[in-house]
Amino acid sequence: MPDTPDVVIVGGGVVGCATAYFLARDGYSVTLIERDSVGSHASGFAYGGLSPIMGIIEDDPVLPLSEAAEAIHIELAERLPAESGVEYEYRRKTSLTLATNPAEVDALKEAHDWLKAHYAGEVAWHDEASARVLEPRVGPAVVAGLMAERSGEVEPYKFTLALWQAAERAGAVMRNASVAGVSRKAGDVSALRLESGEEIEAGAFVLAAGPWMGKATEWLGIDMPISPLKGQILRLQAPGDPLAVSLSWGHNYATTKPDGLLWCGTTEEHVGFDETPSACGRDTIMSSVIEVLPYLADAELVHHTACLRPVAPDGLPVVGPAPGNAGVFIASGTGRKGIFLGPAMARVVADMVIGKTLGVDVSGLSPARFSGAR
Ligand SMILES: Cc1cc2nc3c(=O)[nH]c(=O)nc-3n(C[C@H](O)[C@H](O)[C@H](O)COP(=O)(O)OP(=O)(O)OC[C@H]3O[C@@H](n4cnc5c(N)ncnc54)[C@H](O)[C@@H]3O)c2cc1C
Repeated sequence: MPDTPDVVIVGGGVVGCATAYFLARDGYSVTLIERDSVGSHASGFAYGGLSPIMGIIEDDPVLPLSEAAEAIHIELAERLPAESGVEYEYRRKTSLTLATNPAEVDALKEAHDWLKAHYAGEVAWHDEASARVLEPRVGPAVVAGLMAERSGEVEPYKFTLALWQAAERAGAVMRNASVAGVSRKAGDVSALRLESGEEIEAGAFVLAAGPWMGKATEWLGIDMPISPLKGQILRLQAPGDPLAVSLSWGHNYATTKPDGLLWCGTTEEHVGFDETPSACGRDTIMSSVIEVLPYLADAELVHHTACLRPVAPDGLPVVGPAPGNAGVFIASGTGRKGIFLGPAMARVVADMVIGKTLGVDVSGLSPARFSGAR
């Protein structure tokens, strides 16, 4: 490894590890700085759903990134387990989004009309009776459903670990340290400053610090209004057969994972950097889950986790050069979709770092949108 790496990355979540993976695979020397350990926050404790089309709306600025993400996940599924030695349980799985009241039916119908026009044959409307054919155990609260074929899932911790292991095998190096700021030479960022006072120089810097990206405001003197949105997940030992499809409703979901457990969630809590699972979160999730899947009243709680999504005020991802800071790039704000979007965001930011023409239009996702200097 040369003394000064080509690129230093902050953050060992899915975004930072995937960026390290692509850059190391392309032959660049990479140091990744992580203060805890790989996948020890949201990337390790997410639900792991891959939803290319659900939640997409007309003229969505995230659509090109979303389409790239789907293709990258398919490609990674073919090569990453062998490159990393980690089997991360990628699978395609049909999803069924449920409506439990007239307002949700209307919203789902609107989504269906748009999706049908763009993804013919891959989405299907289900009324109350046919939704029940797909999953007979849904309760009377369910009145309709929208099925999408293009969904999938991974085990998020194993996926993040696989990206890092493959990056490391390709030459990337991890430093277990906390970044406290930047150092400048002639006005430009020349190094990241660790809490110990040590400085790590590099040719370029990628900040992928998840919900802690707000620190960039202080480090770089730019507006970077990313904040944490807490979410909790329960893993249940459920009676009976696994769920045949993955289910979602409102901001909740449930699926049976290859570990045999039924994973369900979630909450959306604006409570700062609190990553503690709470009794209130557990009860909120269980009451919603039992309303949609009454048979789960007898399920046994096996594991309860909480973690923080990185969210920008407009809800969109943030990827691109840090305004006024040559050689510094930002990759974050993936919200509820970071496991899905993370690898595509990483490919984009890696291409920006090495000056390659971008294959994906991310012009609507630039960090400059917060400074009004698009
Ligand atoms: C309950 C829940 C369920 C979710 N389910 C899904 C899902 O089904 N599908 C999906 O696509 N997405 C899902 N997500 C979203 C997804 O988990 C996140 O968008 C994604 O993990 C964010 O990845 P990241 O790499 O940006 O951040 P993180 O995973 O938070 O990683 C950032 C890393 O940066 C490190 N760091 C921060 N500051 C510093 C510093 N100063 N110095 C050194 N290191 C630092 C942290 O320690 C951390 O490890 C879910 C999220 C939650 C909370």
